[in-house]
Amino acid sequence: MAVETNTEAREKSLNFLEEIIEESIAKGEKRIQTRFPPEPNGYLHIGHAKSICINFGLAKKYGGKCNLRFDDTNPVKEDVEYVDSIKRDIKWLGFDWAIERYASDYFDQLYDWAVELIKKGLAYVDDQTQEQIRENRGTVSVPGTPSPWRDRTPEENLDLFVRMKNGEFPDGSKVLRAKIDMAHPNMLFRDPIMYRIIHAEHHRTGNKWCIYPMYDYAHGQSDSIEQITHSICTLEFDVHRPLYDWFIEALDIFPSHQYEFARLNLTYTMMSKRKLLKLVQEGAVMGWDDPRMPTICALRRKGYTPASVRNFAEMVGVAKRDNVIDLGKLEYCVREDLNKVAERRMAVLNPLKVVITNYDEGKTELFEAVNNPENEAAGTRKVPFSREIYIERDDFMENPPKKFFRLQPGGEVRLRYSYLIKCEEVVKDAEGNITELRCTYDPMSGNGSSSDGRRVKGVIHWVSVKDAVEAEVRLFNPLFTKENPDDVEEGQTWEDNLNPDSMVKVTGYLEPSLLEIPVGQAVQFERVGYFCPDTDTTPEHPVFNRTVTLKDSWAKINK
Ligand code: ATP
Ligand code: MG
Repeated sequence: MAVETNTEAREKSLNFLEEIIEESIAKGEKRIQTRFPPEPNGYLHIGHAKSICINFGLAKKYGGKCNLRFDDTNPVKEDVEYVDSIKRDIKWLGFDWAIERYASDYFDQLYDWAVELIKKGLAYVDDQTQEQIRENRGTVSVPGTPSPWRDRTPEENLDLFVRMKNGEFPDGSKVLRAKIDMAHPNMLFRDPIMYRIIHAEHHRTGNKWCIYPMYDYAHGQSDSIEQITHSICTLEFDVHRPLYDWFIEALDIFPSHQYEFARLNLTYTMMSKRKLLKLVQEGAVMGWDDPRMPTICALRRKGYTPASVRNFAEMVGVAKRDNVIDLGKLEYCVREDLNKVAERRMAVLNPLKVVITNYDEGKTELFEAVNNPENEAAGTRKVPFSREIYIERDDFMENPPKKFFRLQPGGEVRLRYSYLIKCEEVVKDAEGNITELRCTYDPMSGNGSSSDGRRVKGVIHWVSVKDAVEAEVRLFNPLFTKENPDDVEEGQTWEDNLNPDSMVKVTGYLEPSLLEIPVGQAVQFERVGYFCPDTDTTPEHPVFNRTVTLKDSWAKINK
């Protein structure tokens, strides 16, 4: 309830980015243009989803446009595979970009602008090594040492820069730097590198270039070329903002402005692309879309709906300070959405066989079951019933406590959509384990009533043994055992915090109609949780993923 109230309250008040946009509109801004700028060096995760919802969401709210721009300035780490996955994920979330661009589309323009800065005496070619450059930058309290090459003439710089571009020099032998201030209190202003030499093939420009622009030199100008009005990024870029402005002013080009919000962090979740890539490469997970990963494709595979992810982004809001969101909130959002849209089915994950002794052998009846009590239009289906059924082991207790309303010796329970059954006998093996229950049913109780009007409190789910479909069911738990996966003991690494029980496989017994559910579409296994067919599923070997439990269980236990 508290959560819903908060959401309502937030809908009425503006978040700080909306305030900024409304101020610009009040000052005469006619057009709102944002962009989402992923680097195609990995798959998008839930943090990116937040950024997508903000950038596309703001454009939509204010009648503006949002571009998709791939920040592809580092040919070594980037790949088309990532480009394709990023586009698929954004579309799946329900957004569409105005135009698709690549920072590499602007390499010619960026080069021309670099030449302009060289001519203005605002950039120079430096022959120092990376290490020397780093050493000579100084520290926050100690000013940097100017490079011996800092005072080259514009003519000499131009000649060298052209030759850098023409491939005359090896990697790392020269860089182009902006000539700003080697004693500036903002370290980024101490003659930032604009271009480095990388002799590598680029996934779009091929071998045309062997010099590549740095983020700080490329990002603001790309925004400017696209006439982005609000360039929204995460908080760690706030120190870059003055430099972003510096290049735009030095070049006297369209004045885009940058605004920062806090990145999304989630408990029990690793959001670093580099570390996620490591998990994939080392086989710690089944791939980028392993349902335990925080990636958008993993959430999709796990059965999350786009609406649940968008609602989550809305619920956590836009913060100015870094914080960590409880993973339980994401699960709350998917549970809320699935409760509305997911169809109900019956499946037993921990079976106990029940033989109904007074029911005809070989007989099958079909009971009508409601597909979704929250949505009448979802209709009904038929569920087969026979003499032998599975129930959940937990739904029977030999010596139950007082308020146990499920099955017990001599007790009666309602089988969901079907008959009342009474437990007459408990069958055990030599070790005393319960192997089977022998029950009788009330033939008059098939339509929710009973022969004499008696009322039975407990209702349990079940599956007919001879009709049951066996499936591999994957139960997922958080991938890490610690709220903060980077919280490590001495001598350990974040990988020591991987949860050995993050995926538990069990055999489930499903009602046959579950074979018709499309891959990725979540249904509720009544009383158990939400599940969807996995991409690994085949007609011979159905595989289901647990999307989320019905109740928030682990979050509380683990605290
Ligand atoms: P890296 O730069 O290490 O590869 P990144 O997570 O910054 O990783 P980008 O592809 O550069 O990845 O991110 C694209 C956009 O998504 C950026 O604007 C970035 O600020 C935003 N973003 C990335 N991570 C988060 C997060 N956890 N929460 C919100 N926004 C994020
Ligand atoms: Mg980045």
